[in-house]
Amino acid sequence: MIKTLGRMLSILLLSLTGCINPAPASLPATTSQTIYGSAHTPTPFQPAEAIPGSMTGESPVVAGTAEAVQAKKVEDLLKIRIVYNNIADDPRLVTDWGFGATIEYHDQIILFDTGTDGRILLQNMAVMGIDPASVQAVVLSHIHNDHTGGLSDFLAVSSQPPVYLLSAFGANFINEVRRSTAVIETTPGQVIGDGILTTGAVSGNPSEQALILRTPRGMVIVTGCAHPGIVQMVGRAVTLTGDPVHLVLGGFHLGSAGPDRITMILNEFRRLGVEKVAPSHCTGEEAIRLFADAYGEDFLPTGVGSIITIGAE
Ligand SMILES: [Zn+2]
Ligand SMILES: [Zn+2]
Repeated sequence: MIKTLGRMLSILLLSLTGCINPAPASLPATTSQTIYGSAHTPTPFQPAEAIPGSMTGESPVVAGTAEAVQAKKVEDLLKIRIVYNNIADDPRLVTDWGFGATIEYHDQIILFDTGTDGRILLQNMAVMGIDPASVQAVVLSHIHNDHTGGLSDFLAVSSQPPVYLLSAFGANFINEVRRSTAVIETTPGQVIGDGILTTGAVSGNPSEQALILRTPRGMVIVTGCAHPGIVQMVGRAVTLTGDPVHLVLGGFHLGSAGPDRITMILNEFRRLGVEKVAPSHCTGEEAIRLFADAYGEDFLPTGVGSIITIGAE
């Protein structure tokens, strides 16, 4: 295996360690968290426009001064924190079936999926020092409860950020969310923030969207469950941007897939040029093992509490 040290891009997979308290029974207070600065007045995301085809335009969200943005790029370009997962990592966090992650990119903080239980979501976020009020947008991958179940509890303590979802979620769900905050039904290639866009609905049972983070190293693609097929979702992202694929992270939905199918998918990943993988949630133990074997050092083991940082050096 080629050493990854010294590559222009380093992905540091950090696990919080030294923890002694498994699963606190009560929800810690979160309002005093100030790690993002003392002023928690996040800029609301503006309703984004659909941009079909290649993504070359500037994002509608521009945060901070040019100097501040420049400084940010030199340090941590992108930080993904997995706040909900049925695969364990940080023992201080509650492990529970579902998926949720926060993404910090270009001074923006978004929440992608909300897990099953809002109390667990908020508790895990508190342990990781993430203030719900700092989240500027929520993106939901698909309608299943293990990705949307925590939404109402989250919105109750949040700054009511807009929720980006699919029309396929149905009127009942959408109207329910609209009682709390703005809802944006996304389209393929829709810009959600600076360097952040969505695949839009990829047809499946149910239809689903993945998040695309455009970095100088290529795309980081975050999937919830990938019910339409992980290859189809990555393929959509490639079609939309034409960018190389640096990392695919999240649920790959291969729990019932046999070795032949997983091998086919691995071949497709190579064809699509997927450089690194971080499968978890519904990927399935066998598939995770085969991805780990195939990708070697480019396989990132992830679970609840994992932090994936992509920097410039
Ligand atoms: Zn699902
Ligand atoms: Zn799921």
